[in-house]
Amino acid sequence: MGTINVTAENIFPIIKKFLYSDHEIFLRELISNATDATLKLRALAEFGEIPIEQLGNPKIEIKINKEKNTLHILDQGIGMTEEEIEKYINQIAFSGASEFLNKYKNQTDTTHGMIGHFGLGFYSSFMVSDKVEIFSQSYKKEFPAVHWSCDGSPQFSLEIQDKKEHGTEIVLHINEDSKEFLEESRILELLNKYCKFMPIPIKFGERETTKKISEDKESTIKIDNIINDTTPAWTKQPSTLVEDDYQKFYRVLYPSQFEDPLFWIHLNIDHPFHLTGILFFPKLKNHIEIQKDKIQLYQNQVFVTDNVENIVPEFLHLLRGVIDSPDIPLNVSRSYLQSDASVKKISGYITRKVADKLESIFKNDRKDFERKWEDIKIIIEYGMLSEAKFFDRVKKIALYPNTEGIFYTFDEFTEKIKEIQTEKNGKCVYLYASNKEAQHSSIQSAKEKGYEVILLDSPLAPHLIQKLEEEYKDVSFSRVDSDHIDNIIKKEENIISKLSENEKKELKKLLESNIDKHKFTINLENLNSKVSPFIITIPELMRRMKEIRQMSGRGMLGIPEGYNLVVNINHELIQRILSESDEVRKKQLIEKSMELALISQNLLHGERLSQFVSRSFNELIEK
Ligand code: ADP
Ligand code: MG
Repeated sequence: MGTINVTAENIFPIIKKFLYSDHEIFLRELISNATDATLKLRALAEFGEIPIEQLGNPKIEIKINKEKNTLHILDQGIGMTEEEIEKYINQIAFSGASEFLNKYKNQTDTTHGMIGHFGLGFYSSFMVSDKVEIFSQSYKKEFPAVHWSCDGSPQFSLEIQDKKEHGTEIVLHINEDSKEFLEESRILELLNKYCKFMPIPIKFGERETTKKISEDKESTIKIDNIINDTTPAWTKQPSTLVEDDYQKFYRVLYPSQFEDPLFWIHLNIDHPFHLTGILFFPKLKNHIEIQKDKIQLYQNQVFVTDNVENIVPEFLHLLRGVIDSPDIPLNVSRSYLQSDASVKKISGYITRKVADKLESIFKNDRKDFERKWEDIKIIIEYGMLSEAKFFDRVKKIALYPNTEGIFYTFDEFTEKIKEIQTEKNGKCVYLYASNKEAQHSSIQSAKEKGYEVILLDSPLAPHLIQKLEEEYKDVSFSRVDSDHIDNIIKKEENIISKLSENEKKELKKLLESNIDKHKFTINLENLNSKVSPFIITIPELMRRMKEIRQMSGRGMLGIPEGYNLVVNINHELIQRILSESDEVRKKQLIEKSMELALISQNLLHGERLSQFVSRSFNELIEK
């Protein structure tokens, strides 16, 4: 008999209540201890301190005894002597738990953001148990086996037992509120969540399999049901793996994913920190799905969390895979993590490796990179916007497809257009479309001029454009439909107006009295006589401001609503309108011209559209 520590009296109730939703971590903690004990014995064998035969083929076993309401965790590790239990369980484990609780019992909200709750260790078993027992035999056979038992009060009992095989059995007498942990399905769920890749085989029950006993005979035998893969792909040397190994690992990690990953990055670094892992680029397209298959964080093959906030840069949260590092502090709050120097290095390293991989695909197989572009552009564009270092790495390889589907890098595109798309003031104008169909007529008129139009249809495009304009000062972006093409790229040409000043005034007045002034700002322009007479445009800056506000969920307050109406006064139709003597006919001409302009920008909707259609049919009959 003994007493753990005077301050212990108030520890157990706290442990029982602590991390209510996270009670399940007790199993991870106990299996981690069993794993540590086994790995320690293996190390002793490797150092030659014990004969290899003594190591055997150690495994860990989990058993449920429903009659007795007990859960058992058995290992074949180094075990503990009486003295060691006194030291490691009564003093050290206890002081670890007590230190942990002191640190966090007053921080009710930061505990939610805590990474992995490692540190509570062995005592977390009291979260789910009325009584915990340890049966242990040290690998040092000269010491007798011991039995420790504690019912949650500071009193414990410690007795000598008969000798048995070296190793430890932990027996949890599951409490009334935790009966779920006596269900096989619940335990299996936890083993799959936390222990799927732990390094020592974990047995949970048995399963049947068929075995050949002679040439033509098979019989059913029972074998251990091992729930884990002790050497998952990320723990191996990249040079020993082939493509198929990665694909298979992806399936094991995300059994409900049916699509293959596009490519992956095997992380493997020893200095200045330890980190291994595999990051997969999934197919994403333009829609960002609600994410259930996330990057998983491990520590020495033990699952910790799938919340990698502050460890992996935000733009890579859409990737999948595993990161395993013993150098990420776990029993700290998320906000602390943000300022941790080694974590910052880890995040920088991951960004660098992703950039390396993208660069190597680009260099080694440009076509392959182009094929993948649609699926990865969201991630790359997000990274370019959020991480300056990443921007500097990938700005040379980010792709911009033109409306024909030919891919250019920024530099290639500049080279291609700078001759003819540079304005008289020296700015190079990048024409882009966000929707090939809707902006078809504007794209067409740009092409007629010999201009190139790139397709920027990702949801991040408005932000990316701002960023690129900041980076490349002599470049400006304009959506093809933001004005008439001759106004977007202003050239030296001076076209003589076909209207006198008086006629212009008359036309302006006439249009203003027939067109909704609040919706359309009327601009009379001297354009080539072949250019459409009425062109409706949305000014570039106004539209961009709207798009950016829309994305950030802010309202549209303060942004003027409306379009520009560019009237090409050199078009024959304008003369025709002015000279029309029949007032009714004059109005009709304006109305019809407006409708045609709206149609070509896909802006004619509702009642106005149906009126237009039925009137047009009637006109066919009249003629
Ligand atoms: P930690 O694992 O962080 O050291 P724990 O509270 O989980 O803290 O465990 C305390 C100590 O108890 C361990 O360091 C180890 O020495 C000992 N221990 C716990 N479980 C076992 C086991 N199954 N076999 C051998 N020793 C164990
Ligand atoms: Mg432990």
